[in-house]
Amino acid sequence: MQSWPGETEILIIGAGPTGLALACALRELGLKPLHFDKHLEGLNSSRAAVIHPRTLEVLEAIGVVPTLLQEGLRMEKFRLREGSKVLLQMDFSPLPTAYPFALMIPQQDTERILMARLRELGGEVIRGVELTDVKMEREGVKALVRRGTEEHWIHARWLVGCDGGRSSVRQRAGIGFEGEPYEQDFILADVKMVWPLRRDEASLFLSPEGMMLVAPLPGDHFRIVATVAQAPQDLSLPFFQSLVDRRGPSGAKRITEMFWTSPFHLQHRVASSNFLGRVLLCGDAAHVHSPAGGQGMNTGIQDAVSLAKPLRRAALTGDEAGLREWSKSRHRIAKEVISLTHRMTLAIGLSQPWQRVLRNMILGVISRLPGLSQKFARKLSEIDYR
Ligand SMILES: Cc1cc2nc3c(=O)[nH]c(=O)nc-3n(C[C@H](O)[C@H](O)[C@H](O)COP(=O)(O)OP(=O)(O)OC[C@H]3O[C@@H](n4cnc5c(N)ncnc54)[C@H](O)[C@@H]3O)c2cc1C
Repeated sequence: MQSWPGETEILIIGAGPTGLALACALRELGLKPLHFDKHLEGLNSSRAAVIHPRTLEVLEAIGVVPTLLQEGLRMEKFRLREGSKVLLQMDFSPLPTAYPFALMIPQQDTERILMARLRELGGEVIRGVELTDVKMEREGVKALVRRGTEEHWIHARWLVGCDGGRSSVRQRAGIGFEGEPYEQDFILADVKMVWPLRRDEASLFLSPEGMMLVAPLPGDHFRIVATVAQAPQDLSLPFFQSLVDRRGPSGAKRITEMFWTSPFHLQHRVASSNFLGRVLLCGDAAHVHSPAGGQGMNTGIQDAVSLAKPLRRAALTGDEAGLREWSKSRHRIAKEVISLTHRMTLAIGLSQPWQRVLRNMILGVISRLPGLSQKFARKLSEIDYR
């Protein structure tokens, strides 16, 4: 039976990190959006494991930073390596921010903390409700939602799609999603292991057969992400052990437990618009990209929190100037993030020996010019997007 109003000022579809951050930010401003997610509970998987400095700055507005800092692990150094040899080092500690580190924390913990904050602010997500159609109107949007066998039309003055890369909001609103898939498969595992390098650094290992990233997670865990030509059916512990042995540094390396594994295929795509009529898009619904640099969830949370004020203004006064400004700026940032992560993905995937020699020479030059590696650290931390 329907247990929500037939009309609302703001309807949010999707309660991943983006939708939760938006709901909190709107609540902080006194608005009470209606919020649906098709799943009966959160996805509860590790996925995005890093929160960058700019995202922590932005999250101050919704009061979750102290809890994130308490639960996460601070990581100051990022090193590009070939085996044990360091090709490039980046240091987050000199960055001009209150948070000069990358905060390592699994996505399900970030979502749990956001959800708890939303409840503190009096909000809730209505779960098990799927958006199936959208009709654009002059003064709003009609959204068809399904719960079990029941269907209802809801009139929303504003509809925000935070419903991920396959966004129904985006598709039903007829907004394009331009880009391409990547050829390689990516695989990941969260593990416990004996590891010869320090736990305050993440290392990206380049090798002719593909890359491997190893980053620390809270609780003595590590995240391993690697590219492979084709992901095997069985992502077993021995399979990851042999990857670590072949691509990792010298010294003792032994995976003792494996908690979560997943293959994933990637695309780089950006929505042709994130603001059409009364429809807005945030997060993966608006842009998807390679995990190189861990920018995905971060960019989505920043889209969401920065949308709250202009959306409030439009809802209360009808003035959409702030929304147009937001749309332009977030679209530009999405394109920049896609371009950066695409170039990084191509560079780490080079397989021809001459290409690799040239790339390593360029990395050597960058590492000798601290200004350049610092510029790169600023990009990754997203503080240039203030
Ligand atoms: C295996 C894996 C590993 C990843 N690793 C990283 C990483 O290391 N670093 C990184 O930055 N990113 C990573 N990502 C990407 C990161 O998880 C996403 O960028 C992030 O989850 C995007 O958040 P979002 O809230 O925009 O979308 P999502 O997290 O996809 O949330 C969308 C929500 O919308 C709901 N929904 C969808 N359709 C509907 C509908 N029609 N009606 C109602 N509800 C709907 C879904 O149930 C879901 O809860 C990874 C992703 C995967 C799959």
